[in-house]
Amino acid sequence: MIEIFDGHNDSVQRIKEYSPNGIDFLERSTVGHLDLPRAEEGGMVGGLFAMFVRPEQPPRDNLTVTQAGHEVALPGAISLAYAKREIAKQLAALKTLEARACGKIRLTTSVDEIERARLDHSFAMVIHMEGAESIGPDLQELDELYDSGLRSLGLVWSRPNIFGHGVSFGWPRSPDKGPGLTPLGMDLVRECNRLGVMIDLSHLNERGFWDVAELSAAPLVATHSCVHTICSSTRNLTDMQLDAIRESDGIVGVNLCVNDVRPDGRRDGNTSLDMVACHFAYLADRLGVDHVAIGSDFDGTMIPAAIADASGLPNLVTALREHGFDYTSLRKIASENWMRVLHLSLR
Ligand code: ZN
Repeated sequence: MIEIFDGHNDSVQRIKEYSPNGIDFLERSTVGHLDLPRAEEGGMVGGLFAMFVRPEQPPRDNLTVTQAGHEVALPGAISLAYAKREIAKQLAALKTLEARACGKIRLTTSVDEIERARLDHSFAMVIHMEGAESIGPDLQELDELYDSGLRSLGLVWSRPNIFGHGVSFGWPRSPDKGPGLTPLGMDLVRECNRLGVMIDLSHLNERGFWDVAELSAAPLVATHSCVHTICSSTRNLTDMQLDAIRESDGIVGVNLCVNDVRPDGRRDGNTSLDMVACHFAYLADRLGVDHVAIGSDFDGTMIPAAIADASGLPNLVTALREHGFDYTSLRKIASENWMRVLHLSLR
């Protein structure tokens, strides 16, 4: 079985160490997409695990559907104090889970540690944070998070914060929405480069993307995004953005989110894996196969029923093989490309 390292999931939200109604990550569940037994069944050996702070208030119904498509109004910003509290809980939850797993799970901070975990048959988690709301203007919290193991950061989720503006959800729409990074956002990019924290561009609006492209010394990374030319969702990457990612030796993790995959932007679980494979093929063509990977978005969205959960990842590999990817390319897409980019991004 081909080993898979996944670029993005939201499973931290669902583990019982964080959520009172959450799942036991060490036991096979039928809820959600990911736990250790299902990861093992699917050949998933590790991935980037996102910490994320939900809105303080349940979100309003902010979806507008017209004949010309749909648009979701951007949720409001959240407070630093609330975000810090929730992220501290999620970090503690991950450490508790690691301790309870008796070596079956390891929180890793470098490619060397990931490789060692794989040799020891230990599942390698890399800690990511989706949205920098728990970091204040003096960026001191970034150092603390780094010391706690954070190695990957999305400056924004799809909402504004003091660093920049997330892209709102919509189809068919351009990702060019709102202004670029704030001066503090630029400081945060420099500080991530200095520490060796990978910067994730998924959820950033287009102007913010170009600011990072201009400033950052590291490869440009979108952990879970698809191709805008195929599905014109705001969350997807335009050809110009893809070209910039290629030139930086960066990477795109293909998101399995059905409404970012389908050309019609519909939220429909009966999305074929051939359709998903079209995004991989487009990216391999435009970027070269060294710059394409998987960013499942497990436990964060609706994925194709033909994959269903992490145990169905071999079905994705089969679809890619049937689409013409050879064994060498499949190994690159499945994990080797992530290892290269993580190696260049972390230190
Ligand atoms: Zn996301």
